[in-house]
Amino acid sequence: MRLVLLGPPGAGKGTQAGVLSKDYSLMHLSTGDLLREAVKNNTPEGKEAKSFMDKGELVSDEIVARMITAKLKKTDASLGFMLDGFPRTKNQAELLEAVLNNLNMPLDLVIYFQTSEETILKRLTGRRICRKCGKIFHVTNIPPKTEGICDSCGGELYQREDDKEETIKNRIEVYNKQTSELIDYYQQKEILKEVSGDLDVNELYRVLRDTFEKSGLK
Ligand code: AMP
Repeated sequence: MRLVLLGPPGAGKGTQAGVLSKDYSLMHLSTGDLLREAVKNNTPEGKEAKSFMDKGELVSDEIVARMITAKLKKTDASLGFMLDGFPRTKNQAELLEAVLNNLNMPLDLVIYFQTSEETILKRLTGRRICRKCGKIFHVTNIPPKTEGICDSCGGELYQREDDKEETIKNRIEVYNKQTSELIDYYQQKEILKEVSGDLDVNELYRVLRDTFEKSGLK
């Protein structure tokens, strides 16, 4: 199956994609993860992206489109993918459509995680990530067994620089201004399904599995 997970930061897209991509043997493609990796490796793209990411602004369409296209071209079409955090603008959505049409891999579904601002703030301020394997935790919602240590690989947990309160507010604003119009865009294409990002992690997982089943996706 070929899916886009759409929704504000903190909606649970990354957490759910981490589990569901394994369940369904899909490639989990997160532009945020790709960009953070580029920043860590100090690549030319990473250097250009860093200042935008630190402020919670969007990185140029050109950079993210180039990164995601390179990954999609390597995708085994029979396996499929889950896009998390891309597209984020109408221009990116159009670029994606063109690339996927070229590869003969149209999208099956876009899952919109409708999420309240209260949930977003709680999730992002408490989010912790493993430095080694990227697994996502939350200080109260998904606490690790030992504080500060990843349950899966023993790596150190850290807080993302852009998960601080001031940057979060800007990220929500950027989402409302630049990304939320994609809800209408995909609704018109009749491939949008809505779920509640306010559900707890296990409930949301069940709803998503149910949504895939009802849509005939395997
Ligand atoms: P995320 O991990 O999805 O919250 O993304 C973290 C940051 O990476 C965002 O605040 C943006 O600065 C940048 N970013 C991620 N995906 C995109 C995208 N599709 N377009 C532009 N910037 C992006």
